[in-house]
Amino acid sequence: MLHRLCIAPIVADGRIRGVITESKAGREAILARRVIDATGDADLVARAGAPVIKPPKEELMAASVMFSMSGVNKARFIEQVRAHPQTYADWVGDGEWNIQTAGKEDGMFSPFLRKPFKQAVAAGVIPANLTTIAGIWGTVSDQGDLTYLNLIHLPALDGTDPNDLTAGEIEGRR
Ligand SMILES: Cc1cc2nc3c(=O)[nH]c(=O)nc-3n(C[C@H](O)[C@H](O)[C@H](O)COP(=O)(O)OP(=O)(O)OC[C@H]3O[C@@H](n4cnc5c(N)ncnc54)[C@H](O)[C@@H]3O)c2cc1C
Repeated sequence: MLHRLCIAPIVADGRIRGVITESKAGREAILARRVIDATGDADLVARAGAPVIKPPKEELMAASVMFSMSGVNKARFIEQVRAHPQTYADWVGDGEWNIQTAGKEDGMFSPFLRKPFKQAVAAGVIPANLTTIAGIWGTVSDQGDLTYLNLIHLPALDGTDPNDLTAGEIEGRR
């Protein structure tokens, strides 16, 4: 039963017995012997009143506004990646992706980009305050579609707060 948003659990005798959903077809109640909350943020469990833990948003991992690009010159892009191969060690320091490795990953290739954006800032092509542009790319097609660019990092957003998500989406796209 896809294309429905669970909006509330049905709780009786201290157990979740089902869910209320909303969709274009209206409101429905679905009863079940067992309910598994796979909402990612435990929405149903939280709404059922069970204890949940969430750190202050200043301590949460930064959110990403992912994007794709078209019109990428694949041959030149791959040529540059080969000329400046990035490894997991390159993620360390200088930004949101400030990771620690156990050392064994340090020499492994990683589809990580930071240098081109630093150069773009230095050249005045993008604003100097865009210090959080660094991250990974997924694939680049022969047609020039560079997919899964996970580069924009926005700190101090609560992913369960629609106002934070709205502000983050607007700022991330900008
Ligand atoms: C940009 C990005 C990059 C990431 N990169 C990595 C990585 O490299 N390595 C890694 O290990 N992890 C990564 N993660 C984290 C990883 O994707 C998540 O931890 C994982 O997907 C969580 O899985 P899940 O099944 O718990 O929840 P989700 O994958 O979030 O699935 C929850 C599903 O429930 C649906 N849903 C939510 N609420 C409702 C509702 N009320 N009613 C109906 N449906 C609902 C959602 O639409 C979604 O389909 C990344 C996450 C993001 C956003």
